[in-house]
Amino acid sequence: RPEPTTLVHTTRFHAARRPAAVAVICEGRTLTYGELHRVSNRMAHALRAAGLGEGDRVAYLGKESEHYYEALFACAKTGAVLVPVNWRLAAPEVSHILQDSGTRLLFLEDEFAPIVAAMPTRPPETVVPVGSITAWRAGHPDGETEFEATPDTPVAQLYTSGTTGLPKGVVLAHRSFFAIRDALASRGLDWIDWRQGDIALIGIPGFHVGGLWWATQNLNAGATIVALRAFAARQAVDLIRDLGITTACVVPAMLRMMLTEPGVGPRDFTTLRKTVYGGSPVSEALLEQSLAVLDCEFAQIYGLTETGNTAVCLPPAAHVPGSPLMRAAGRPYPGVRVKTIDGRGRELPPGAVGEVCLRTPARMVEYWGLPERTARTLVDGWIHTGDAGYLDEDGHVFIHDRIKDAILVAGENVYPAEIENVLERHPAVGEAVVIGVPDERWGERVHAFVVPAAGARPSRRDLHTFLVPRLAAFKLPADYEFTDHLPRNPSGKILRRELRDRYWRDSARQVN
Ligand code: ATP
Repeated sequence: RPEPTTLVHTTRFHAARRPAAVAVICEGRTLTYGELHRVSNRMAHALRAAGLGEGDRVAYLGKESEHYYEALFACAKTGAVLVPVNWRLAAPEVSHILQDSGTRLLFLEDEFAPIVAAMPTRPPETVVPVGSITAWRAGHPDGETEFEATPDTPVAQLYTSGTTGLPKGVVLAHRSFFAIRDALASRGLDWIDWRQGDIALIGIPGFHVGGLWWATQNLNAGATIVALRAFAARQAVDLIRDLGITTACVVPAMLRMMLTEPGVGPRDFTTLRKTVYGGSPVSEALLEQSLAVLDCEFAQIYGLTETGNTAVCLPPAAHVPGSPLMRAAGRPYPGVRVKTIDGRGRELPPGAVGEVCLRTPARMVEYWGLPERTARTLVDGWIHTGDAGYLDEDGHVFIHDRIKDAILVAGENVYPAEIENVLERHPAVGEAVVIGVPDERWGERVHAFVVPAAGARPSRRDLHTFLVPRLAAFKLPADYEFTDHLPRNPSGKILRRELRDRYWRDSARQVN
């Protein structure tokens, strides 16, 4: 086949055809496909010389840089498995990931050396400072290794961001980065519609499946990726305008941050052709605002680390303000199946809310070292997502929320996203998050956190009056808490657990 089919082929393919084309831009530095091919070959030989081979784990703890992508392709070319580590984690969490994965070699940026020094466990056998990578691999040949991967060879082990508990290592094989593209291509489709000269913004960090997937899709297609060391809205907008970025993949929180930057307007986004977003529920208010400011196509993606990122996509044509499809996450790609099930595992008809299950050729191999967890999540080829949702008659998937995030008010399930969506339509609300808090009478009651819109000062009464005609009484927040900060993980997801813990602890203290 003419196109790369594993990450071993990616740089070889483009280096042979367009060696001078730029593969990665980061902080003003550029790396061409020819250079990316050679440096990753060199690093692969250096990894071999350090005693690493097939199946060995190589971790990377550092912010985004061209070395991160070099390490990814070097691992692919050695048969090693890259374990990207979220640099916002604390020492015990980093220690868990390094221990759990059995990492033998760690690429470590100086900024995070104190974290590794503070770990309760010993660091891996070999630690290579990111700043010394060039010197460390110098002297090794820049020709290819003879290692050849198959689509089923593991290449990355991503730790879920832990919004639901201790991070689990999700093992992904090469096919996770190619299967959807291939399924679409077999029908003559290419949803990104890549064009020569495309420049893609990597908004989501590369240690998250969304960032890694988007970066690899673009590199597989021979586009240029622009990596931000860490997402900053102002810098992202400036880069889009100054570099003429044509495609971007962001989480909704990043869209919101870019759109609320002072002075940002349509003229900053004139080169943008397509914005891909997903990773957490998006409110209609934010989506409509984005459509108004960004004159480009929008595509929503839905998926999990466990499904190799996107399994479902809402195409540009469905992005019509006022259309009920604006609340959908999309439809499965060719080759992907979706169903919803009840608590006993029985398949539900369209319209009924249950757990969303996905069957996709991009799915994970396993949770590393956790056969029981794997067997519970990956059942007969179906990934049980833990998300509550329903399908319509045409197969569109509507995601309500995490099942665990549902609030049980007097026996009724209340899904936070529904309430948040309505609250965010109030002009004085910048952002809203609701959680369940203990209630003696009803079991749980709805508690809303509200970040006021810039310069606005909404009152409890205003918000309550606004919601009453729009929501059933049992869904109405019993309390509102105004704040200017919501806890998030680095990929922009709200840490509901943290909000809940804080509230439950406080309420326990009050009771005591
Ligand atoms: P953990 O699994 O430890 O909680 P995490 O939430 O970061 O970590 P990911 O695999 O990164 O795990 O995220 C997958 C989840 O993100 C999905 O299960 C879903 O809840 C949410 N999600 C992803 N895309 C969308 C979308 N388009 N709409 C709504 N929710 C989404």
